Formats: sequence, structure tokens, C-alpha cells
Amino acid sequence: MAYNINKIRSYFPVLNQQVYNKPMVYLDSAASAQKPVQVLMKEEKLHNDYYGNIHRAAHFMADKATADFEAVRDKIQKFINAESREEIIFTKGTTESINLVAHSFGEKFLTEGDEIIVSEMEHHSNIVPWQIVAERKGAKVIKFPFNDLGVLQLNLLPKLINKKTKLIAVAHVSNVLGTINPVSEIIEIAHKNNVAVCIDGAQAVQHTTVDVQKLDADFYAFSAHKMYGPNGVGVLYGKKKWLEKMPPYQGGGEMISEVSFEKTTFNEIPYKFEAGTPNITSVIAFGAAVDLLIKAGISEIAAWENELLEYATQKLKLINGLKIYGEAPKKSSVISFNIEGIHSYDLGMLLDKLGIAVRTGHHCADTVMQHFGIQGTVRISFGIYTTKEEIDIFLEALNKVILMF
Ligand code: PMP
Repeated sequence: MAYNINKIRSYFPVLNQQVYNKPMVYLDSAASAQKPVQVLMKEEKLHNDYYGNIHRAAHFMADKATADFEAVRDKIQKFINAESREEIIFTKGTTESINLVAHSFGEKFLTEGDEIIVSEMEHHSNIVPWQIVAERKGAKVIKFPFNDLGVLQLNLLPKLINKKTKLIAVAHVSNVLGTINPVSEIIEIAHKNNVAVCIDGAQAVQHTTVDVQKLDADFYAFSAHKMYGPNGVGVLYGKKKWLEKMPPYQGGGEMISEVSFEKTTFNEIPYKFEAGTPNITSVIAFGAAVDLLIKAGISEIAAWENELLEYATQKLKLINGLKIYGEAPKKSSVISFNIEGIHSYDLGMLLDKLGIAVRTGHHCADTVMQHFGIQGTVRISFGIYTTKEEIDIFLEALNKVILMF
């Protein structure tokens, strides 16, 4: 089936606007994606028709809200092919999902002298939580390096693993380099050595099919706001065998079974990890975003975005003094670059004045910047609604900016 870009764009009226009297071109979906009408309507409908707090209430509206909330858990389970719905935990986002694993897995399974391997291309969200737990437990964080093309040096991994290694933390797709990492192979090597793997899927689930059972991932984290869903919601997938053994991350309502001053017992998974009133509205509206991804087809989306990636990469390479960071053979919808003699902030600011929304700076990935000895890059990123025409407008604007210097 051909990818119907016009139909997809019709769901995102926000894209049809002018900024500074120029057509707005949104090339920052990796930071956060725009929201389709389906998501906005779902939020409105909930508040107009049947809003109530979920799980414990005894009235019609709360029951309906609970049913819708839990139906999204089922939808996510299917979307990533988890074995059971109990393995889907709602969080605030990828960051909280990873912090949950670091805290609870770390509390239970890490002891002094243990090691956690973390890839060099991680977002700060998949480095700092591990450093915090390592500090608490007297464990060490070990770097899993990438080469100058932005490819993880898989051949080094078996040598980095030893008896003390407990977990490997790695992104499925890098938010700076765009590299699609060989997570299947990493998991296979890890499991041969009885090491668990925590995958940061923030830049992957919206671009590529994820099957957590096929991958055999132990933990897989992602955020709704990068998947055309609302912000303030994310998911942690965790294998039952780990989640059942891990202690709660936060205490409060819903995560308990019984509370007394003498002893408190905890709820079953996933509720053990969902303390307090969750982001009810956003979880329910997130379901509409997942429906859209399913309807558009992840394979079709991937094919469309690959075409855009190829097209933009080839055109950018023709620009004098332009260097692309991340030239892995397998890449997703992100291109980071710098132009000799122009600061990335200046480029971003001038592009903005021409209507183009890009991201500049370190992209919360200082270790990637350190690898290349740079302060930052300009990053363009594509979504389901991006067109070739928009890439042309961006390239024209970029050439104009270059001429100004
Ligand atoms: N990991 C990666 C690879 C990301 O791109 C991001 C978002 N920039 C995050 C983690 C953090 O996601 P969130 O802010 O939604 O928690």
C-alpha cells in the first residue's frame, strides 16, 4: 500500500501555519512530535464525557475511564508484542522508565564491585541513572564505545563482559547519530553471559517494528510524546521474571496491597510500580496515537522516512564544509551536522527565522559530543508527516544562511 502522506498530514493541522511569515517546517520530531487531531479529540472527549479517577472508584465515569486506561495497556502490549499485560508499566516517560529500572533492579541485584556496561552514544537519561545507582551500590559504569561512523564496536562487547557484569544499557536508535544499534546481537551476547539488557527505545518505536519477545529484551523504555501522543506519559516494558523480584520504585496509592504501621504489602505487577494517580488523560489519548501508527503501518512509515533520510543525506553531502555526524549503514530519521566556521546555535537561530524548526546543541548526549570533540550539532529529524518538499525548503534556507556568513 502506498504511503498516503497527504492523509497523514491532514491529521496535523498544526503543521499548516506560518512563522515569521514563512511556511513552518517542523524538523524536530526527535525532540517531540506534533499531535494529531485523533489524540486531541480523545483528550477532549474524556473530559467532556466521562472523566474520573481510575481503579478504585464505584461510579460509572470512573469505571469507564478505568476500562479505557487499561485498554491502552493491552494495546501497548500488542504493539510491542509483550507476553503479558502485567509487563507494561506506565511512567512519565523514557527517563522515568530507566530511572525505575536503575533504582529497583539496582537495589535488588547490584552489589559492590558489580559492573554496568553503558554505550557511549546514550542520551543522559540512559547514563546518569546508572551512575547514581552505581554510586549508591559501589558498582562501576563501563563504557561500550562506538567508532567514528557512529557504529557500536560490537566485537569489543564480549571482552567488556565479565563475572561482575550485571546489565547492559543501550539505545535502540541514537538520538544524535541516528544509528540503529544491533540490539538483538547485543542481547544474545548478554544473555549467554547471564547479563540483563535495558533498551532505550525513545527514538525507535515510532520508526521501526519492535517485538520485545523476539528481541528477548529484559527492559524496553519509550515516551508517548515522541510517538505523536501526549507528553507526560511513557512506558517501561519489563520481563515478568525481573519485575516480580524488583522492589517498588515509589510508595503511595495503588502500589500497595495492605498498609498498616506494622507492615505494608505491595500490589501485583504492574501496579506495584504505578504509585499515585497516573496521567489518566494522557495515557488514554496515547491509545489514539498508537492506533494512528498501526493504521499508517510501521513498515510503511519506515520506508517513507528512509526515503527522506536518503534524500536529505545525499543533498547535505553536496554542501561545502558540511560534516555529518553518524554515518552508520543502518540509520533512522535523524541527521546531525555542523558547517565549518558556523556555530550550531547561529545556524539554528537563523534557520528558525526562515521558518525551519531544528534542534541545536548537545542533544543531552555529552559523551557523543566528547567523542567527536565538539560542543554541539544541528539536528534535523523526520516524522510521519515530513515531506520531501519540506526538506527542499530546509535546504534552500540552509544555503541562504551559509551565504550570510
Ligand atoms: N533517550 C533518548 C534516546 C531520547 O532521544 C530521549 C528524548 N530526547 C530520552 C531518552 C528522554 O526521553 P524523555 O525526555 O521523554 O523522558
